[in-house]
Amino acid sequence: MPLHAAEIIAVGSELLGSARVDTNSLYIADRLSALGIELRLKHVVGDEPGDLASTVRQALARVDVIVLTGGLGPTDDDLTRDVVSAVLERPLTIDERIVQAIQARFARRGLEMPEMNRRQAQVPEGALVLDNPNGTAPGLFIDHHGQAVVLLPGPPREMQPMFDRVCEGPLAERAGDERIFRTSLFLTGLGESHVEQLAQPIYARYRGATPPVATTILAAMGQVELHLSVRDRDQPRALAVLDRVRAELLAALGSHVYSSDGRAMEEIVGERLVSRGWTIAAAESCTGGLLMSRLTDVAGSSAYVRAGVVAYDNADKIALVGVPAVTLQQHGAVSEPVAIAMAEGIKARTGADVTVAITGIAGPGGGSAEKPVGTVVIAVLAPGRDAFVRTFQFIGARTQVKYQSTQAALNRIRLMTVDV
Ligand code: AMP
Ligand code: MG
Repeated sequence: MPLHAAEIIAVGSELLGSARVDTNSLYIADRLSALGIELRLKHVVGDEPGDLASTVRQALARVDVIVLTGGLGPTDDDLTRDVVSAVLERPLTIDERIVQAIQARFARRGLEMPEMNRRQAQVPEGALVLDNPNGTAPGLFIDHHGQAVVLLPGPPREMQPMFDRVCEGPLAERAGDERIFRTSLFLTGLGESHVEQLAQPIYARYRGATPPVATTILAAMGQVELHLSVRDRDQPRALAVLDRVRAELLAALGSHVYSSDGRAMEEIVGERLVSRGWTIAAAESCTGGLLMSRLTDVAGSSAYVRAGVVAYDNADKIALVGVPAVTLQQHGAVSEPVAIAMAEGIKARTGADVTVAITGIAGPGGGSAEKPVGTVVIAVLAPGRDAFVRTFQFIGARTQVKYQSTQAALNRIRLMTVDV
């Protein structure tokens, strides 16, 4: 029977507090998924032998792959090796080659190996030793009557290359030839239930196809994500069915889909600007430069990003971007005429092809009955296009309003770079 289902056990009392987060399991989950091994449960267990032993026992009763990280150090609180050896009834013996390797590691720094590091040379009966070029604790791979138990060190830079080698070697050999293939569509400007309404008739048909396509819809800040996956041993067939369902979904969801290859909104916008040969500048108020920050997260953005001005105070909207004082007085800072004036002002000052302005009330204070918190006005000017200006009503805390504002602005830039 090929290996099919897995659990991850992250060991370390520090991971139960607020100071350290278990990130190893994210890395491991990704690698397991690539091998077509389904992750069923993740655990975080403190440095407590009884808890760890019962967690390992339960996992052995449920799945055929158990990956443990952490607790392989030389100190008394590092007990993964001892507990696993006891639960699997595989006694520990010292491997002198490991002792020598650890001694050599210390010697390279002119040090003598402390006696307690001998613990790290203990190997449960029948275990395969995984070298650790980045630290003292070797990892262990145990084939326990067909179940795979993998022990990895806690530090990510030691764990990651070691687990890569496990995935290419002993796990790949035992994983069978099914793999999981994935694709995803990212949408914005359409709520989760609207996406579901349009997408459901399509993905429901593919749920029963050969091979079946599994679909997940996730609402995230400023976007909805559609994740599609297929488990198959036939790669061309899997990719072909994913292509078909993606094409049908794209046709149904139209321009709301901004990315179908995993790239972020700012990358898509950057690519569009490059293909048009257009430069961009922005005048931001409530987003405080977040739009510029996102645009410049993209490598190579210096080819099209010209300038950004954060004009927060009204006086600076006048002085730095040239908003007429009378427009501010008549309409207020959060208004469509002011947003247009900001976009025009930054265009006049920079000569950029595309200019964007964002002004709004991020909250929690500053709202009114007429302009509640979350009211954000976005204006975009682009060559040969009608000026765009719209008042949005976003929901959420301050950082969420800021993010959604930049997402809506970037999406509008994207839409204004397509052919008209
Ligand atoms: P250990 O192997 O238990 O001695 O862990 C050594 C260090 O690795 C810890 O202090 C953490 O900083 C890090 N570490 C341990 N487990 C994890 C984990 N699950 N995710 C991320 N870092 C970890
Ligand atoms: Mg630890």
